Amino acid sequence: MKNIYNLTIKELEDYFIEIGEKPFRSIQIYEGLYKKRLSSFKDMTNISKDLKEKLSKTFSTYKIKLLLKQEGKNVNKYLFELSDGNKIESVLMFHNYGISLCVSSQVGCNMTCAFCESGRLKKVRNLEAYEMVEQLLIIEEDIKKRITHVVVMGIGEPFDNYDNVMKFVKIINCGKGIDIGSRHITISTCGLVPEIRKFAEEEGQVNLAISLHAPNDELRSRLMPVNRAYHLKELISTIKEYIKKTNRRVTFEYIMLDNVNDSEKEAIELSKLLKGINCYVNLIPYNETENIGFKRTKEWKILKFYDILKSNKISVTIRKEFGGSVDAACGQLRAKAE
Ligand code: SAH
Repeated sequence: MKNIYNLTIKELEDYFIEIGEKPFRSIQIYEGLYKKRLSSFKDMTNISKDLKEKLSKTFSTYKIKLLLKQEGKNVNKYLFELSDGNKIESVLMFHNYGISLCVSSQVGCNMTCAFCESGRLKKVRNLEAYEMVEQLLIIEEDIKKRITHVVVMGIGEPFDNYDNVMKFVKIINCGKGIDIGSRHITISTCGLVPEIRKFAEEEGQVNLAISLHAPNDELRSRLMPVNRAYHLKELISTIKEYIKKTNRRVTFEYIMLDNVNDSEKEAIELSKLLKGINCYVNLIPYNETENIGFKRTKEWKILKFYDILKSNKISVTIRKEFGGSVDAACGQLRAKAE
């Protein structure tokens, strides 16, 4: 049985046309599911009994299950079980500007970044769009508030699951449904060049973030094997093309790893690499994990790195810390639960 949360409004409309129903039924169903949050067709009062039965026989609704929730200061962490028993995580952050949700896009990840907990579990499979939609619905139900921002930055490489992630974006962006503005949605990638090119052709204003983490190929290839496939020169020129085409600003994420990528030399190198690019850099204090040897850069050194970028006219921020108290570094909760 197909899951109803896997359908864009257009696909739902096509379905209704196919079965000889009025196309506007798709709007009714979307409003029922996403505005009224009805999880059963039976509760939808504006459709006939026959149609309710047909829909119940054709589509399933909730499939993923909330297993565990950890609450910290301004952050909640959720562990879900998928219908096949696999586990994924989402992180919810309460900011002064709104509430943002970090969703996972895969079970495990194949990118094997040296510092990342998620990558210690090889990719088992891609998430379906509905499994990402349900992360959001279940968490909104839990907090009784609306999520204002979504980042696809949890476990997995979203551009290694391109079609499902784009479908998820379409579903949560739809005005008849969850209606999260595209400017409030961000996809984060380790730098898959062909998909960045594809993404440049998409409609809408979804934000792109790139996990950079190093300013030269030697270091980046050591930290992020994906760099051996797409060197910095190719990555940066693809990003320049993306910006030219979309006129959108790109975010570069840079985790601060003690004595690895955080020296003055690297700050200067990074400034040169990004010179003239419409971007900003987000410096992320590394979340240490038990299983991996990397340490977090000391605060004074992060500030120094920040100052060097600033003085070279690079827009830069230091990420406010959230996850630490609740094992929110990617993959930590799952790793602990196993
Ligand atoms: N695969 C995508 C999205 C998931 S990772 C990507 O690479 O962007 C989300 C971000 O968290 C990435 O920037 C990743 O490098 C970073 N990250 C991974 N482990 C981390 C840790 N322990 N502490 C801080 N950031 C981490």
